[in-house]
Amino acid sequence: MSKILVMGHKNPDTDSICSAIAYANLKKELGFEVEAVRLGTISKETQFILDYLSIDAPRLIEGVNEGDKIILVDHNEEGQSVNNRDAATILEIVDHHKIDLKTSDPINLRFETVGCSSTIISKIYEEKSVKISKEMATVMLSAIMSDTLIFKSPTCTEEDVVQGKKLAKIAELDYEKYGKDLLIAGTSLNDKTAYEIVNIDSKPFEFGSQKALVAQVNTVDISAVLARKDELEKVMRELMEKEGYDFVSLMITDIIVNSTELYVVGDKTLTIKTFGMQEGAETVFLPNVVSRKKQIVPQYTEMAK
Ligand code: MG
Ligand code: MG
Ligand code: MG
Repeated sequence: MSKILVMGHKNPDTDSICSAIAYANLKKELGFEVEAVRLGTISKETQFILDYLSIDAPRLIEGVNEGDKIILVDHNEEGQSVNNRDAATILEIVDHHKIDLKTSDPINLRFETVGCSSTIISKIYEEKSVKISKEMATVMLSAIMSDTLIFKSPTCTEEDVVQGKKLAKIAELDYEKYGKDLLIAGTSLNDKTAYEIVNIDSKPFEFGSQKALVAQVNTVDISAVLARKDELEKVMRELMEKEGYDFVSLMITDIIVNSTELYVVGDKTLTIKTFGMQEGAETVFLPNVVSRKKQIVPQYTEMAK
């Protein structure tokens, strides 16, 4: 019998890699011939886990062939899936996303409304009475910490917390500290230039008569980003001159504490009026603000009227 390939989605996140590894390991323990594979580059966050455990990344594949047998984790939609999927036989899917699926054969589906695929896989280990090794516990805990932002995301459920805490115990890890280290590795901006930071995610707007750019960068350490204020200011001033903006606002968003430090270069009048920034200050801390679309742009727009 040919080997079964276990894979997550394209542009893989930590859950897609870790769930593939953990589920392939479980199937192996149950006597199947399987291999975890991946459909894209390993992120910095995922690399942190592989380095921590000194394990290799799953093999990269470009597509599947006629007759291949595959198991999908962390996705089901064809557009997110492996190239040439129709040629293969899907044996199983373990996922926590909305279902968008057409199949020609029956499939074993395991879908649950939890925050992470690894939460489901951890439960399947339990159901099959397969012992979870320290290494596999770390792999699955990592996925849960990533997908639920250390249990703080609105997508996190009680089941994620139960399985996550159980895995942390087996892994002998302080999940709070480990999860933070993991997320920090993923948002590390050390290798990014100031220009790249401002341009990761920036959009131009018109607020009344003013033209502005509102950029956003995710971090777990606002102070580390603000430590590069001089470099950032230079880039933001250059953008103002080149594009004729009245001001440039950079949302430095802490994804752990769910808050934003808004750093403004140029005309600060509108930010002072809208967000209560102090006269003479360059930044204002906005607790519970993470969304440009919902919590920054409409407020600027309203005030500018
Ligand atoms: Mg995913
Ligand atoms: Mg996921
Ligand atoms: Mg994700």
